[in-house]
Amino acid sequence: MDNYRAMIGLEMHCEISETNTKVFSSATNSYSELPNSNIRPVDMAFPGTLPVVNKKAVEMALMASMILNCKQPEYIYFERKNYYYPDLPKGFQITQETKPAPMGIYGYLEYECNGETKKVRINNLHLEEDAAASEHLSSTTLINYNRAGVPLLELVTEPDINSADEAVAFLETMRSIYQYTGISEADSKKGQIRCDVNVSIMDKDKDPSDPNNWGTRVEIKNVNSFGGVRDAINYEIERQCDAKEDGTYDTVIEQETRRWDEEKGITVHMRSKVDAIDYRYFVEPNIPKYKVSDSWLEKIKANIPELANDRKEKYINNLGISEYDAKILVKEKSVSDYYEETLKLGANPKSSCNWITSVILGHLNKFYLDINDIYLKPKMLVDLIKMVEDGTISSKQAKEVLYESLTENKEPTKIVEEKGMKQIGDTDSINKIVNEVLEEQPNSIEQYKGGRTNIVDFLVGQVMKKTRGQANPAITRNMIIEEIEKR
Ligand code: ADP
Ligand code: MG
Repeated sequence: MDNYRAMIGLEMHCEISETNTKVFSSATNSYSELPNSNIRPVDMAFPGTLPVVNKKAVEMALMASMILNCKQPEYIYFERKNYYYPDLPKGFQITQETKPAPMGIYGYLEYECNGETKKVRINNLHLEEDAAASEHLSSTTLINYNRAGVPLLELVTEPDINSADEAVAFLETMRSIYQYTGISEADSKKGQIRCDVNVSIMDKDKDPSDPNNWGTRVEIKNVNSFGGVRDAINYEIERQCDAKEDGTYDTVIEQETRRWDEEKGITVHMRSKVDAIDYRYFVEPNIPKYKVSDSWLEKIKANIPELANDRKEKYINNLGISEYDAKILVKEKSVSDYYEETLKLGANPKSSCNWITSVILGHLNKFYLDINDIYLKPKMLVDLIKMVEDGTISSKQAKEVLYESLTENKEPTKIVEEKGMKQIGDTDSINKIVNEVLEEQPNSIEQYKGGRTNIVDFLVGQVMKKTRGQANPAITRNMIIEEIEKR
């Protein structure tokens, strides 16, 4: 494998979930338990029905195009991709194929992979309609047309990606962009993200900028999870490298479309590019060409919200959060939103960050939860932080309370109250106990005066014992020293 360079190009499909209706019809654009309930006549291709372009979907596509540093089109129009399949009632898909029709061309995106900044060129980004979903049962196939006409963004990269790690890092960055802009929930479990993966290898010592040196491209269709993308790429690179090594590359590796078999962990032949389908593209005559004005583009640009990177920089530069923690906080938008909510409610940024990254995320990972699923709302975390700050409980106690709150679904303030956990913070009560302890431990005073100052730890421990851990340790420590010095 060391003698070869892998070249990977991705075609990433993402369903737009932001719009209320489908891309060319007024049917509801949302997931429904009830099959074939979100449908309008146009989705079923009834005669006489006409598509109407969803403006919001176009705006979302143009926003993504800007974030991907693409060139936006002067005119928007659509094209028909003709093929027959039961999940496609019209017998064609409305899409955008020919340059310069797409929503964006000639872009690029920088992303981070294993601590290094990588750059991938974007060939194009286009808007199209999703097909219906087929469910294959043992003796029959059922079709759910709820998905027919759901707005779909397809992004095509140049083959600038060189490993499975890079491909996954790129996809994660894109998912974050889709989530932070609100374009899509981008949840691959809901099938909102699907990928075609193109893989080839070439000799490492040859110049990759010359396409004559490239190897044969194999396309793997419809890989539905990021883990699948990683495994499919690694499998395919190995298959192609092995063929080079045993001299069968020219006969075995052909330009073909393969399928990822998730269960077996292998790619399988689907069809050869030689029998490629002729889609007979032509301009969709029922949707007029639409001129894109500069002022419209400017308005869309002004509406691009803060993205993960912006928030990360803000946390590092304005809040003093470490780069390591800032990255963790922004990885999932829901976590970053939660964090921001605690700040709005007056939490100390560092304390809030610490509790979230150490205890809360640990809990989420352990039980496969989303931060929105937990009982502990931002306000409750802020209450907890404030109880530590005003000395009601120690941070050690706070940790206990937080764990209990997460596992028992109880408010931190309630737990503290019920357990009588309140830390003793008033100096008079502590003073009384400190003096009791000093009376009982005359030797310790001698030792302290003789230079063994760490005996104070022992004395703090004695006070804690008497108060069952409820004395404020900082106040106790200072008071012990003060009292000894008086004697
Ligand atoms: P198709 O219709 O065959 O899928 P597309 O133009 O839609 O063609 O997609 C081509 C994809 O293949 C792009 O992502 C591109 O980067 C990738 N690609 C092209 N050449 C190579 C290659 N030699 N190795 C890997 N990927 C490649
Ligand atoms: Mg393709």
